[in-house]
Amino acid sequence: MQPIDLAFDQRHIWHPYTSLTSPLPTYPVASASGVEIVLEDGRHLIDGMASWWSAVHGYNHPELNQAAHTQIDRMAHVMFGGITHGPAIDLAKQLVAMTPEGLDAVFLADSGSISVEVAIKMALQYQVSRGLQGKNQLLTIRQGYHGDTFAAMSVCDPINGMHELFTGILAKHHFAPAPTIKPWEAWHDSETDALEALFEQHHDRIAAFILEPIVQGAGGMRFYHPNYLRKARALCDQYDVLLIADEIATGFGRTGRLFACEHANVVPDIMCVGKALSGGYMTLAATIATRHIAETIGAGPGGGALMHGPTFMGNPLACAVAAQSLGMIQRGDWQEQVDAIALQLKQELTPLHACAGVADVRCFGAIGVVEMHSPVDVAEAQKFFVDLGVWIRPFGRLIYVMPPYIIKPAQLSQLTHAISAWCQRGK
Ligand SMILES: *Cc1c(COP(=O)(O)O)cnc(C)c1O
Repeated sequence: MQPIDLAFDQRHIWHPYTSLTSPLPTYPVASASGVEIVLEDGRHLIDGMASWWSAVHGYNHPELNQAAHTQIDRMAHVMFGGITHGPAIDLAKQLVAMTPEGLDAVFLADSGSISVEVAIKMALQYQVSRGLQGKNQLLTIRQGYHGDTFAAMSVCDPINGMHELFTGILAKHHFAPAPTIKPWEAWHDSETDALEALFEQHHDRIAAFILEPIVQGAGGMRFYHPNYLRKARALCDQYDVLLIADEIATGFGRTGRLFACEHANVVPDIMCVGKALSGGYMTLAATIATRHIAETIGAGPGGGALMHGPTFMGNPLACAVAAQSLGMIQRGDWQEQVDAIALQLKQELTPLHACAGVADVRCFGAIGVVEMHSPVDVAEAQKFFVDLGVWIRPFGRLIYVMPPYIIKPAQLSQLTHAISAWCQRGK
């Protein structure tokens, strides 16, 4: 094998959210297996990130590998226009069965951002189909993250999402304050006053309310009270607004329920899933709507067609692996695993409250967050963690982990000890 050409990488390849001209260091990976990432230089790292929420079963899983091998020997891809195939049907069956009752119309998208685009398009087309063209704006909450394409970006937090870079291009929507009451704190009805006021004032312009249920991920790693979500559902019903739940980060068990909406017993009108959908193997996402939405769009203008259709829609390879992954979730131990991770994270991270640089420690499901008072130097922290044999990638003031569900207690302790060492270094 050729040695890795890092100089070429640094000069020619953009990595996520980085500058091409003053790139941060990148670590060449040779392979990954279970909860370990193996670097080209032979070092093994315990993975705290599950490759951004996705590798819930760990890497190089024999069952997922087998599903990919079996499918690739039949066909890697075939167009989805006018054609269907077993893997797409298997996957959609499982999605309909697993998602909350009532969600049963599946659109297979090629990434999380696209599934959000499709959800927004569905909501707008639904309103047009009812003759309510004026309902063409969205409502969301601050500190949210819904993806990097333009419609998704327009409902990301205006500051985190750097809306000012794209003024005049991003559609203008309505932003409610971010929820502040955490799931374990006492509820006050005043929490939703500002949200209610926005509904009252603008409902005749609003097609849908989009939010991440219970856990706001990339927009700040914040957890909020299920009553907020219940109230959101009630307000959507009262004011004839669709509820879109972006479960791309939270879906498939991460928060201790299969879907975070279940913490509030809320069923959205449209749900987006991605990330863990294919067990972290391939890019795949889905937008799942109620039959009512599908039927309303179906009776609308343009022959009732939903106007979206990516080239790689329903990619059989991705669908086959995702169907296998969902099967493993349905018959597996995710509930016990996530509960155990939740407990251990709480026990081992909570004492870090006492560290001088730490502003907050919060854990929910298999997610542990340490918020510092000041921004973390990513390059420095990354090297520190790699030297300790763990893979943890901070952003902003946040050091956080959401490991593969299969992580063992001793491996999880390696992650929390490394975070602890970072908080206490030099003291
Ligand atoms: C990651 C994420 C997205 C975007 O998904 P991509 O696959 O990166 O396009 C959208 N919404 C939420 C909540 C996410 O966490």
